[in-house]
Amino acid sequence: MTDSQIRARGVCDPLVLAAVNKVPRHLFVPDGMRGSAYADEPLPIGQGQTISQPYIVAYMTEALGLKGGERVLEVGTGSGYQTAVLAEIVREVWTVEIVESLSLQARSVLDSLGYANIRYRVGDGSEGWPESAPFDAVMVTAAAAKMPESLEGQLGPGGRMIVPVGTYLQELFLVRREEKGLTRERLLAVRFVPLVKAS
Ligand code: SAH
Repeated sequence: MTDSQIRARGVCDPLVLAAVNKVPRHLFVPDGMRGSAYADEPLPIGQGQTISQPYIVAYMTEALGLKGGERVLEVGTGSGYQTAVLAEIVREVWTVEIVESLSLQARSVLDSLGYANIRYRVGDGSEGWPESAPFDAVMVTAAAAKMPESLEGQLGPGGRMIVPVGTYLQELFLVRREEKGLTRERLLAVRFVPLVKAS
């Protein structure tokens, strides 16, 4: 999977490739879907949600330019697969999921794999995790209708955020906090489930 779907499409960061190689993706998909766990497509994980396509997980992780010592906020734990890829690379991952059953399921898989550098929260991640901010990187895995300024505000100096923005037509943005202020770069067209608001 790493060679044919990920490296072949231009992801070359060795930390990302090693992490994707190591994380057993089949453990994050429902039993009936295990046969498709390494296919080049998103898969349903229940509650109307999906686990992202492996290439997109690798692409978004690479875009964060991680070196290993970072504290990262993830919005949308979902299956926990992306969480595991991040946790392989960085020092600490803070992950927020709005659907409690998904958070609990992800946590049980991630605990069974021995990840001790992940903090979990159930709730609306669009406000981030203010008590633990600032973060070196923020990864949003559901689409925001517009650029989430509260998350931009939780980026530390030199911090980066990758976030899909839009409703039907969505684009992946890379936001950077630089000395002169924030820059927002458009990367590519994508299709994510929407970020939902707490009811
Ligand atoms: N990274 C995930 C992809 C999950 S899909 C994976 O690798 O499996 C997006 C996830 O975002 C879903 O689980 C959805 O429930 C969650 N989500 C949607 N709106 C949210 C919000 N406001 N706060 C936190 N999580 C949210």
